Amino acid sequence: MKIVRTQAELLEQLNNVRQEKKSVGFVPTMGFLHEGHQSLLTKAKEQNDYVVLSIFVNPLQFGPNEDFDRYPRNEVKDTKIAEEANVDLLFIPSVEEIYPRPMSIKMNVVQRTNVLCGKKREGHFDGVVTILTKLFHLIQPTRAYFGLKDAQQVAIIEGLITDFSFPIHLVTVPTVREEDGLAKSSRNVYLNENERAEAPLLQKGLQKGQELALSKKYTSKEIIDQLMKEYDRLSGELDYLEIYSYPELEVIQELKGQVIIAVAYQYEKARLIDNTIFTI
Ligand code: AMP
Repeated sequence: MKIVRTQAELLEQLNNVRQEKKSVGFVPTMGFLHEGHQSLLTKAKEQNDYVVLSIFVNPLQFGPNEDFDRYPRNEVKDTKIAEEANVDLLFIPSVEEIYPRPMSIKMNVVQRTNVLCGKKREGHFDGVVTILTKLFHLIQPTRAYFGLKDAQQVAIIEGLITDFSFPIHLVTVPTVREEDGLAKSSRNVYLNENERAEAPLLQKGLQKGQELALSKKYTSKEIIDQLMKEYDRLSGELDYLEIYSYPELEVIQELKGQVIIAVAYQYEKARLIDNTIFTI
């Protein structure tokens, strides 16, 4: 595995790969890798001749009061995991390498963003599409891999790829979970013992919501009310709990078609998100 830190080195490596007409799978991450990231890498490896992994904690997608400074980082462990996953090229740029000067053009997501995390985290998805645009241009992958744990992100990236005509195939991967159902996340390390013990109830609530929706006996509001009661017992604070069509993320009067129930929950030092997507 080759490790590069600058755009110039990255392009140099990829030059040869492009000349050999190899397919390139790209997995963008913020590091502190876990089995969720590994499943993206496994799929990328299966489907491509060459796999690029990027690790970059992107300041543009963090709000002023969010956890950019204390986002967990462990380059040594990440490098080992990347090597074990047979990554061909690992790109770990510094913030200065990616943003040597303030951006002169701002990207502004206008659809699928006024709900869920987009509503709660102002500018978050503008930062996500900005870094992905840069990385897509540099890497020019055949396929790019994203986890459905961040379902709104996937919906917005679908918009980015289509609207800006990136010749990239978007591949999604199901959420990887701990044995007790908690979605794997780099931020889980910030849960205290009590929070970690109760956090799987977030997923259990979503499953219950899915069952209620599939029974076709309840409206969205009734389902939300039921789940609120479950989440009320937890020790943190509910950030949002919402039901929409997926991937459009529009309010649906009648629960029909592909539906997402998504939750964000704020614990003392970690904000967790999870969702379930299903078809009625
Ligand atoms: P992050 O490092 O949190 O930016 O995540 C990088 C990529 O890994 C994103 O596409 C995430 O959706 C994906 N990812 C994170 N956690 C999981 C998980 N538990 N299962 C599947 N994919 C995940």
